[in-house]
Amino acid sequence: MQNNKYDVIVIGGGNAGCEASLASARMGLRTLLLTQNVDSIANMPCNPAIGGIAKGQMVREIDALGGEMGFITDKAGIMFKVLNKSRGPAVWSPRAQCDKKLYSIFMQNSLISQKNLDILQVAATKLLVKNNKVTGVITKIGEEISAESVIITTGTFLNGKIFVGKNEFDGGRFSEMSSISLSTSLKDDCGLEIQRFTTCTPPRINGDSVDYSVMTEQPGDNPPMPFSHFTDIKKWQESKKQISCWLVYTNETTHKIIQNNIDDSSLYNGLADAHGPRYCPSIEDKIVRYTDKNRHQLFLEPESLSTKEVYINGLFTGLGEKVQKDLLHSIKGLENARFIRYGYAIEYDYVPPTQLKHTLETKKISNLFLAGQINGTTGYEEAASQGIIAGINAALKVLDKEQVVLNRDEAYIGILIDDLVTKGVDEPYRMFTSRAEYRLSIRSDNADLRLMDIGHRIGLISDAMYKRFELYRETLAKIYDKETDNLPEDEALFPWNMQKVQEEFEISSKYKGYINRQEINANKIAKYENKRIPKNLDFKAISSLSRETKEKLEKINPETLGQAHRIPGITPTDIVFLNIAIEKLSRSQNAK
Ligand SMILES: Cc1cc2nc3c(=O)[nH]c(=O)nc-3n(C[C@H](O)[C@H](O)[C@H](O)COP(=O)(O)OP(=O)(O)OC[C@H]3O[C@@H](n4cnc5c(N)ncnc54)[C@H](O)[C@@H]3O)c2cc1C
Repeated sequence: MQNNKYDVIVIGGGNAGCEASLASARMGLRTLLLTQNVDSIANMPCNPAIGGIAKGQMVREIDALGGEMGFITDKAGIMFKVLNKSRGPAVWSPRAQCDKKLYSIFMQNSLISQKNLDILQVAATKLLVKNNKVTGVITKIGEEISAESVIITTGTFLNGKIFVGKNEFDGGRFSEMSSISLSTSLKDDCGLEIQRFTTCTPPRINGDSVDYSVMTEQPGDNPPMPFSHFTDIKKWQESKKQISCWLVYTNETTHKIIQNNIDDSSLYNGLADAHGPRYCPSIEDKIVRYTDKNRHQLFLEPESLSTKEVYINGLFTGLGEKVQKDLLHSIKGLENARFIRYGYAIEYDYVPPTQLKHTLETKKISNLFLAGQINGTTGYEEAASQGIIAGINAALKVLDKEQVVLNRDEAYIGILIDDLVTKGVDEPYRMFTSRAEYRLSIRSDNADLRLMDIGHRIGLISDAMYKRFELYRETLAKIYDKETDNLPEDEALFPWNMQKVQEEFEISSKYKGYINRQEINANKIAKYENKRIPKNLDFKAISSLSRETKEKLEKINPETLGQAHRIPGITPTDIVFLNIAIEKLSRSQNAK
């Protein structure tokens, strides 16, 4: 019987909300997903792709914990590519272009068929709080629903404002309503501090109006590699149909059009003035910041097998529609491109994540968890990673069991959450391999070896699957010990196989020596805490640091390496480079 009492309520059906509600329901808790629009569950409002540098590793981690993103990507993917393949396996990053419509439909089906999970299409407008503990929610139609734990995953919807050039209107995404009263409730009922960020998305065009003959084709890998540990790789590779993306470039005319109309952009004319993601810059930012570049890459990515709609990756913009048309039509192959959706910028409320514990529960209100873009991150994978952890911990809290916190040397997900709750954010946070002190040991190939024990212990990996995983791990140990007798057949190892055992053995053997050195470096970083940065150290002159890092260091002017390390966006690798520069400066001063 459906009543108004649940163990866990999840608000929001984006990537964070989907993983959170599936995790909670699969752990046996009565779970309700409240979302504004069931048809837009797991919608990809930005690029139709999952994975990429460091993000691909996170998808493999979600999968090893028993999450859904990798499995759905394998089903809905239409172009698979392992990025960084020319470099070492430590930074190999799987990425897949997805059929956006199929992705959403497959995820809806997973949710709808999940035992213990109800879905309701209605917005939550208020949180019920008693004695600093959340007790439930009130919906837009006045329904009161109680729960032991509540997880909020409302993405860009809180007080969302959309901008196309000089035009402005309320919206959580272009054609969806923003959530105003829930943001007020977070402030007034929960006492949480709220701040604002901006992000933007590129235009989508009609593929029939594109001249692909002048563009460079970007085919997928052959054979493709799936994301999920549980995908039947042989069958999947035989049946997977892939399509290509296309590479084009902006040119000097495009740049002139943007320069001449920069005041038309909501990102420059003072309308959307909250901080945006510097690592995912708008085309306006690229033209203003990188004046020495006379062209920028754009990738044309198909949005679905069933439509001709094409996403223009790299053309994020807050410009008005006329300028968008002019600049697009100045690009070779896009002279006659017809728009289906204009690019736009969005400004929204987020909750500074230093107000959270490592479990993603708020420090102020117990049993209230936050996950996804509401915590100041950007990206589907970052959202889903937080979603699964919030779902697991909200469930464990109800069960009164020890909660799960992943360490920095265990998973990118651990790094993500540790960075958010300890350093906070001053721009939308996205994951990079350079944020990881231990990136040689937290690779995409070994996510199962790192995390499947946890997934099984909390009940997200079935006993039957875990048995096969254990056999895989034992077989790997035999190979390390050079034992070649009685090795299992592929059938017994399925979905793992002997080829995977061999590959894992080769990769981990290759990294053995480097991993020891990595430990030494990580220990060094811990020791740097109190090391003073000389006042006369010129950050700008350190060529190994990125432009963004130099700007941040100049702005904050930290006194110690420990303080520098705590600046949002400063990575462990930056600290190593800074230390080298300090040593160099001190040697040159001693020599005088
Ligand atoms: C314009 C735009 C540009 C973006 N640009 C980038 C980018 O450059 N790079 C990048 O990596 N990512 C980008 N993204 C971000 C990426 O889409 C998000 O990071 C990711 O989807 C966030 O996932 P989420 O689950 O936190 O929230 P979302 O995917 O936003 O999902 C939020 C969900 O909450 C629901 N909801 C909201 N309010 C309520 C309520 N009161 N009650 C019930 N349900 C509610 C919504 O209906 C929706 O289903 C962009 C997103 C947008 C909209």
